[in-house]
Amino acid sequence: MNEPMKAPGEGMKIYLRLLTYVRPYWIAFIIGIIGFIIYAGTQTAFAALMEYLVDAIGESKEDAYIYGPLALICIALARGIGMFAGNYFMAYVARNVVHQLRLVMFDRLLVLPVQYFHEHSSGHILSKLSYNVEQVTSAATESLKIAVREGATVIGLLIYLLILNWKLTLVFVAVSPFIALVVLVASKRFRRLGHRIQDSMGEVTHVASENIQGFQVVRTFGGLEIEKRRFLAASMQNLRQSLKMVVTESLNTPFVQLIVSSALALLIFLSLHPLLNTGMGAGEFIAFITAAGLIAKPLRSLTEVNSAIQRGIAAAQSIFELIDQPVEKDQGSRCPDNVVGRISFTGLDFAYAPGKKVISGFELEINAGQTVALVGKSGSGKSTLANLLPRFYEPTEGEVLLDGYPLSDYPLDFLRQQIAIVTQNVVLFAGTIRDNIAYGAMEDSSDEDVLAAAEAAHVMEFASRLPNGLDTEVGEKGTKLSGGQRQRIAIARAILKNSPVLILDEATSALDTESERHIQEAMENVMHGRTTIAIAHRLSTIEAADKIVVMDQGRIVEQGRHAELLKKEGAYAALYKMQFSEIDNQAEPITQTITDHKQEPSE
Ligand code: ADP
Repeated sequence: MNEPMKAPGEGMKIYLRLLTYVRPYWIAFIIGIIGFIIYAGTQTAFAALMEYLVDAIGESKEDAYIYGPLALICIALARGIGMFAGNYFMAYVARNVVHQLRLVMFDRLLVLPVQYFHEHSSGHILSKLSYNVEQVTSAATESLKIAVREGATVIGLLIYLLILNWKLTLVFVAVSPFIALVVLVASKRFRRLGHRIQDSMGEVTHVASENIQGFQVVRTFGGLEIEKRRFLAASMQNLRQSLKMVVTESLNTPFVQLIVSSALALLIFLSLHPLLNTGMGAGEFIAFITAAGLIAKPLRSLTEVNSAIQRGIAAAQSIFELIDQPVEKDQGSRCPDNVVGRISFTGLDFAYAPGKKVISGFELEINAGQTVALVGKSGSGKSTLANLLPRFYEPTEGEVLLDGYPLSDYPLDFLRQQIAIVTQNVVLFAGTIRDNIAYGAMEDSSDEDVLAAAEAAHVMEFASRLPNGLDTEVGEKGTKLSGGQRQRIAIARAILKNSPVLILDEATSALDTESERHIQEAMENVMHGRTTIAIAHRLSTIEAADKIVVMDQGRIVEQGRHAELLKKEGAYAALYKMQFSEIDNQAEPITQTITDHKQEPSE
């Protein structure tokens, strides 16, 4: 799916960029490298020790029985210290890099334009944050560790071989292009498979999260079989690509081994051939073969590590792609001391996709403190309009003004401070009811303020009956709250925020009369003294509005007060008859019923 064509060297560029995240940890990095160099040195030292011991036997050196064992212990000790320092400090660096990447990704997610979340499923985004980042770890930790350690070993041994007998060593070096070729071919395949595995992981997360969230629909509409098939397909794709990766890995190693062994065989042939007198002593010969043999293992590790590096590069690429996404435009600088909340829409057009207008020629003046009820069929553009105010989207044409100035004149955080939003489906965060009311910038609010907001929003009405009152945990670990109760918490949050502008997206679901009364009073309290744009479904809100704006296909078809519009017998009157004549018989949507019944019977 997502396999961008890469120019040669692209992988290197990505890896180098990944390494820029290593920079802050350069001291640990250097200690790690020194550790591995010490470790690598001990390998060469071991080959040298062999030379010394063989010679010692041949020439019967007197003190070899002391120095030999002593050297062996010293080598082992140095090897242990080098290995520990290398492993620990490299892992320290790599783990920190992953941690930083995750933070950068998350920070970026918080400031990406809302459109990004429409274009990318949450499952795929989550998989980037969890799976892909871990792939980078394996590239950064394991691979870097092995690359440095085994790389240094190979270099150390090669230098030693060159010193011992440079002519024979050249024979050995001559096979390196063949090894390089195998590595190159495998690399390409590793990276391609890495991308596919990531995509398939994203798909697995995506299907799973859809099913966890939509379990009611899946189970009541007989979606079990379809969902099983979808999941099977996603997981199967992952299985297939992962196995292809293993095949490539497992073929890669024997190939390299065969090449190295052939070189080694040639070396033995050349050194032992009676006619080709290399003039090597026994010790030198043993040392040479030992060192050449020792090269095989790190070389093999180096080629094995290639698959992890390529997977890491593929993962890093997808991570950088997210990090490089342009963020929301935020260039305004107007921060007046007082915003009264006058809102004007002038000649406003908006399209999600080029050419498909969702809002067209929208003109509306809302004075400070007024309530405007947006009504209209589903899909008429009400939510879109409300989303333009906090600049979740930018107008295609025309402007939205706050107190006479375009929204883009204000810094985003300042603008959003002026707006409180109560959404239909209230998302509560892990924590207590109090935490959820005094959320975000309001976390330091005084107890009195939080309590006052909770009272005004009729939260206390149910919270006072809970064992820990406002300090009751909500969500998974704590009490489950009904839709109506959640909405009142959201209203309390908006009251506490006390901003001049309020966007109210009323729930469409009908509540019982008791909850309805609480919600209605809470709504009246939160709307009081604020400019309110309500996507209205409640008759009470609509009747009390200063202006009702009837929308159809992104245009205003009628506006005025309730009684006026009814008298006109136009679009509003028709909508009113259709939506509210049967309000008493309206059944609760099935999802609402299921959630409500698990919870308090009082709602
Ligand atoms: P309402 O709130 O009145 O139901 P919306 O503002 O949600 O209407 O939708 C208005 C139109 O915009 C609809 O045709 C809808 O399909 C389209 N739309 C809404 N959100 C998006 C989006 N994120 N991307 C593309 N089109 C969208």
